[in-house]
Amino acid sequence: MPPSATKRFDIEISEVGPRDGLQSVSAIMSTADKKHWISALAAAGLPEIEVGSFVPAKILPQLADTAEMVEHAQRIQGLSVTVLVPNAKGAENALKAGARKMSIPLSASETHSLRNVRRTHTQMLAEVRAIRAMFDALPAADRPFFEGGLATAFGCTLEGQVPEDRVVRLAEQLLEAGCDAVGLSDTTGFANPKQVKRLTRKVWAAVGRENLTGIHLHNTRGQGLANALAAVEVGLTTVDSSMAGIGGCPFAPGASGNIVTEDLVFLLESMGLKTGVNFAKLLEARKILAAALPGVELYGFTPDAGLPKGFVPATVQE
Ligand code: ZN
Repeated sequence: MPPSATKRFDIEISEVGPRDGLQSVSAIMSTADKKHWISALAAAGLPEIEVGSFVPAKILPQLADTAEMVEHAQRIQGLSVTVLVPNAKGAENALKAGARKMSIPLSASETHSLRNVRRTHTQMLAEVRAIRAMFDALPAADRPFFEGGLATAFGCTLEGQVPEDRVVRLAEQLLEAGCDAVGLSDTTGFANPKQVKRLTRKVWAAVGRENLTGIHLHNTRGQGLANALAAVEVGLTTVDSSMAGIGGCPFAPGASGNIVTEDLVFLLESMGLKTGVNFAKLLEARKILAAALPGVELYGFTPDAGLPKGFVPATVQE
């Protein structure tokens, strides 16, 4: 099902902490703690959680229990559960685990692609076609939703500027190869708000609004929330973020820090945009994270400052 068909809030926050966050933390969170944390994130009202990645455990031992996380999270009523798959082998394992939504990263910078997944653009598009063929062999109702994430869409630590026309072309190629939608990702924290709007509109002009609804932003240079605001203003409806800002991309030197879910929720709710998230329950989930990963730095201004006196969020707080 396309994200638009499941949209329940003004802006859907996709919580990436259990995947993007944990893969960058060297400490391994126990399977029991992860389940507890994911349940708490869902209980706080986050509509979607990226629960892991189907990569070999020897590469990312932090995510070795992803299949178990899929099974756990998909039992939570109403929660959209998504996983990252780096290639067709990963998608096959995700399918075995029963995953209903998957995303594959395609780095607009070929240098980054080679570093991240050891494949060229041509090789990655071949993986996408192989995955599409695998899904198309299933009955229509059993086919997972399959998104292509355009990584380093706003610039690359290794290559520098990434031509916007290349990003547009890759978006078209991902859809032609069999993705159901594409997303934009500022893997390196290079983006600025004008660029977010311009690139979104360029991709829309090429592939249609319905095929690009989400964005993944990093706060590497402190522009994360400004870029999130630009994304919302231009009309994107799904924004990725990570509880306490944990994570980033371990393969892009110098890039760290997903945008902070707690601060993103405050930004959106204070502007009257419903996210479905309950603040008190969100802070409960943060406590679980803090206890499970002692010594790992947790970010975010809103958790420290608290909500302003008399603050009325857009989402009714139960
Ligand atoms: Zn990230």
